[in-house]
Amino acid sequence: MSNPKTRRGAISVIKPDRDRRFVTEDNPFEAMMSRFDDAARRLNLEPGLYKVLRSPEKQIIVAVPIMRDNGEIEVYTGIRVLHNTSRGPAKRGSRFDLAVTLDEVKALAAWMTWKCAVVNLPFGGGKGGVICDPTTMSVNELERLTRRYTAEIIEILGPDSDVPAPDVNTNERVMAWIMDTYSMHKGHTVTAVVTGKPIEMGGSLGRRDATGRGCLVVAKQALARLEIPLDQATVAVQGFGNVGSTAARLMAAEGMRIVAVSDKKGGIYDPKGLDIPSVLEWIKEHRFLEGFPGAKVISNEELLTLKCDVLVPAALENVITSKNAGAVKARIICEGANGPTTAKADAILDKKGIFVIPDILANAGGVTVSYFEWVQDRGGYFWDEETVNERLEKIMSKAFDEVVAMADKHGVSMRIGAYMLAIERVAAMHRMRGLYA
Ligand code: NAD
Repeated sequence: MSNPKTRRGAISVIKPDRDRRFVTEDNPFEAMMSRFDDAARRLNLEPGLYKVLRSPEKQIIVAVPIMRDNGEIEVYTGIRVLHNTSRGPAKRGSRFDLAVTLDEVKALAAWMTWKCAVVNLPFGGGKGGVICDPTTMSVNELERLTRRYTAEIIEILGPDSDVPAPDVNTNERVMAWIMDTYSMHKGHTVTAVVTGKPIEMGGSLGRRDATGRGCLVVAKQALARLEIPLDQATVAVQGFGNVGSTAARLMAAEGMRIVAVSDKKGGIYDPKGLDIPSVLEWIKEHRFLEGFPGAKVISNEELLTLKCDVLVPAALENVITSKNAGAVKARIICEGANGPTTAKADAILDKKGIFVIPDILANAGGVTVSYFEWVQDRGGYFWDEETVNERLEKIMSKAFDEVVAMADKHGVSMRIGAYMLAIERVAAMHRMRGLYA
């Protein structure tokens, strides 16, 4: 596959596809694939490898019948996609949601492959879920659903093959049920089969803050690159959940000025800087930011176009689009959320010279500490939080430098640089392993 002649032939096989790229701006599969295609083209990826890396290895659909509490039987659909496991077991979120579709799961699985490769973890990418509305289910029904789904996919699950983690509407308790079901089938306890477990059963210290902490690490490096002193940096954060609130708390603790934060009801703004510990106290009591005293009320749309040094979109996908990208005034965008920027918006931000730290790098802190959890479980030896944080910082910081180097070398954006780095790593593994036939 590494024959240079074949590699050169790649350009004619991978068509630019530019028109299609922007047809469906908010489709996650298209968004991921347009970046993949762009990066693969620039790498002159061999046509054969291009086909291999574009195709998910396994797609599984299972029926998940359970008895509801009222005695009736209901059958749900479970999906599992392993995108690429050449570098190691598939690391994947497992979600319970009505909006789960095979197309979306395929896109998210590929996304995980690139994310794990950017930070150089020995993991591949996968994704899974059950199409259901967990808000209409009792705890007992959810437990039966989780256990039956686990049993249906048990041949592929395992610390060496496929390691689920929490995602939309799944949590530590769901991970504990998966771990228990898997262990009962194996006849012994296997904690490393899932990550995101409760600490008491083999979870890792530092996991809860990991994604926000990762954002802090790469945002600091971007500020240094742009020669903006930390204590003069202003930050706006969209989304005040796990990722956004942690990023805001840690950035404020480093002396950065958090001028705006928001949740799904709207945002609050204070150009002098919000007192983040007070905001966190307010949230604990009132759940939403609404009503926080002394700050100006702003909308989520206004927050995205505020003048600031760092914008951290940490809520939803597709919030920076061709419609508002032209109005974004931040100097750095640190993508805490998955897919907050559309491919069409990328081009606009690029032209404006905005330094985008792409999602597959910026929010990889979470999967990195999931990897640490897996390592600790397998070694049966647990680290203190300081060690976890130190190792996380080292990995994120190295990945940032490697993405910058790739982007500089090829004269591309950080996003395409990150995809190129990731694709190159996965492709290298395929070349070394060869094609089994
Ligand atoms: P979360 O549910 O804890 O928080 C989400 C926040 O976004 C909440 O404050 C919510 O009010 C806000 N929000 C919801 N709808 C909104 C809207 N329309 N406008 C503005 N704000 C809105 O979720 P999270 O775990 O912090 O995840 C946030 C994003 O980060 C998601 O894209 C997720 O996939 C991504 N991510 C999370 C992790 C992780 O470790 N939690 C890791 C990688 C990526």
